[in-house]
Amino acid sequence: MNELTDPTRTPLGATVLGYPRIGRRREVKRAVERYWADAISAEELQACARAERATGWRTMAAAGMTSLPGSFSLYDHVLDTAVMVGAVPPRFRPLLEEDPLSGYFALARGTAEFAPLEMTKWFDTNYHYLVPEVGADTAFSCSPDKALGELTEAAELGLSVRPVLVGPFSLLWLAKSGSADGSGQPLDRLDELVDTYLEVLARLRDAGAEWVQLDEPAAVTDLTGSQQRDLSRAYARLGAAAARPKLFAATYFGDPGDALASLADTPVEAIGVDLVSGTPLDRLAAVPALQSKVLVAGVVDGRNVWRTDLRQQSSRLATLMGLAGQVSVSTSCSLLHVPYDLRDEDGLDPDLKSWLAFAEEKIGEVAALQRCISEGVFATPSVRTAEGEADGSRASLRRSAAVRERLSHHTPGSSRRPPYAQRQPQQASAVPLPDLPTTTIGSFPQTTELRTARAHLRAGRIDTSTYEARMREEIEHVIRLQEDVGLDVLVHGEPERNDMVQYFAEHLHGYAATTHGWVQSYGSRCVKPPILYGDVERSGPITVRWSTHAQSLTPRPVKAMLTGPVTMLAWSFVRDDQPLGDTARQVALALRDEVADLESAGLRIIQVDEPALRELLPLRAADRADYLEWAVDAFRLATSGVADSTQIHTHLCYSEFGDVLTAIDALDADVTSLEAARSRMELLDGVLSAQWTRGLGPGVYDIHSPRVPTSEDITDLLRRATQALPRHQIWVNPDCGLKTRTYEQVTAALHAMVTAAEALRNDASG
Ligand code: GLN
Ligand code: ZN
Repeated sequence: MNELTDPTRTPLGATVLGYPRIGRRREVKRAVERYWADAISAEELQACARAERATGWRTMAAAGMTSLPGSFSLYDHVLDTAVMVGAVPPRFRPLLEEDPLSGYFALARGTAEFAPLEMTKWFDTNYHYLVPEVGADTAFSCSPDKALGELTEAAELGLSVRPVLVGPFSLLWLAKSGSADGSGQPLDRLDELVDTYLEVLARLRDAGAEWVQLDEPAAVTDLTGSQQRDLSRAYARLGAAAARPKLFAATYFGDPGDALASLADTPVEAIGVDLVSGTPLDRLAAVPALQSKVLVAGVVDGRNVWRTDLRQQSSRLATLMGLAGQVSVSTSCSLLHVPYDLRDEDGLDPDLKSWLAFAEEKIGEVAALQRCISEGVFATPSVRTAEGEADGSRASLRRSAAVRERLSHHTPGSSRRPPYAQRQPQQASAVPLPDLPTTTIGSFPQTTELRTARAHLRAGRIDTSTYEARMREEIEHVIRLQEDVGLDVLVHGEPERNDMVQYFAEHLHGYAATTHGWVQSYGSRCVKPPILYGDVERSGPITVRWSTHAQSLTPRPVKAMLTGPVTMLAWSFVRDDQPLGDTARQVALALRDEVADLESAGLRIIQVDEPALRELLPLRAADRADYLEWAVDAFRLATSGVADSTQIHTHLCYSEFGDVLTAIDALDADVTSLEAARSRMELLDGVLSAQWTRGLGPGVYDIHSPRVPTSEDITDLLRRATQALPRHQIWVNPDCGLKTRTYEQVTAALHAMVTAAEALRNDASG
């Protein structure tokens, strides 16, 4: 009898690739932070984590999930797997051996002595993972304690779980070289790492695991021929093992392309495919080997909040059943990217609410779709559609004729300013500045007092005018500080912003905010992305009163601060009923009005931040040109309405911008600030070869570190910059906003920055 049809074995059936883990009321997040602050013990933290896992598994089982993922993490799932296989830098080994829990957190957060692992974005999401360091001397080892513990825990609850691990190929694909000299690629170590996974699998099988999920999201990126072969070889070896659980290789975040056939040719029992983000069914039809596999069909969107059109998806399932040995219904990716439960949201418009599904609702959808398969009933009218009863109102809540009419007057690609050579002299006479002008990226420290004032306003303990007076005081404080330090272009400090996206979302039609809609950003850091559900419209000026207040306090130029259209999408849950580019244009039009109001109010310098420009970059090269075209177009629509004499600045939060350099150039901002301090101005090579002509502010102060740079450190960085670019193009600024730092650090660092700029100005040799 075929394994797949053997009735003594449980099929995967309805499942999800992963479940949220911060706690429905962020209990886990808080427990982790209290553990760090020594307010609770390790046992108390573990008890909280255990309760969270039990609740998650029970909830999923009650909703009809027949296979439960062991996807919990106290900090990050990549770190969990790295620790499991010993892919950790030698500096942390003694700590891990002495106390696994504090060693684990030390890897994530560093110690007084050792820098933590680097953190970076998880594919094209807003989740951040810790980057494993794998070098020639990394000694892999097998310690699956976490997964073993969860198997036991679940068994005690009468449940069986499927351990979820990052697969060996993706783990190394995500890692960076851990060799001191940067030589050797992590993937060079794949065969040895697979040996360790084989040990892990044997241990999990002995502990009773029937299935193991190995996440291979890297399979949806453009793999080289040799990477394809690496992937195949790894799974051929894992599959050939005698003692192992059944293997479920999960690809997600896009179309696996040729990697699907590679995986299907190995002995893995199940393969996961993301059927939400554009994998064509033809792709599956072209892989006959799927006929002997379980296809884990990711038809419910794991990373956005819209209800699934069950009728449409159930008819796709009918087709899929002909293409695979068995079909198991699932989410497109882990649900860690969405909030827990829509029923917690009392404040949402009931129509809007009826279009949404959070994790809890999504497991219901998965179960309903699996029932379609088991009952053989597809696409009948009894299957609820996504629109439900709300059809009519859905359209009217979503569409604004006025926005559409206005946008029709701005054809895509038509927004352009006159050439920079013409703007530049006018800007120089409108706002005279010295060479190497000094400025900041926008925010100043978000102090406890500011956050408390906001909490009091929300709770009704203070009224709006008291709150606003408090913000105006803060702005005055920030202006005086910048004057004392001697900065050339000042900012108001953004004290009124809880978050650079949420703040604007709260002031735009078409966006809704949730009350409990938290999702993990990294470790214990959570964000509450707003929901962009309808046509975006501005009802009036948003930031003008803050910027004009700041300008009224000083003769020095004040730079106004806005969040750009791409970033407004990247950090929100965005409607999926129209192309992203169309939505970006609507946001851009609202920002264009804000830019115009700022300009009329006398602000001569306006910065539009796009820190997420690279994050939304499609994973496949073939999709990038299209994305960059609409992203650039939206930025220009927002910023091209100003006079030649008005300076447009932009800010991007990274230094490796090679992939998007042409697009950054095409934004046509008069001044661009980028992160550069940590990489010691490496970005200048790219800028040089691109023959950069406009202003550039390569960051000279690493704001991610509590360390305050000396003026010598900064002078040194600036000298490198002046060797690469004419000094009249160079601006002097930190890497990013200062909101996470203390006033003490900021004041000292800004003094050092101004001292360095002045020294260099006086130093004729540059
Ligand atoms: N203006 C924002 C700030 O200074 C920019 C933040 C960002 O780039 N992420 O905080
Ligand atoms: Zn930044």
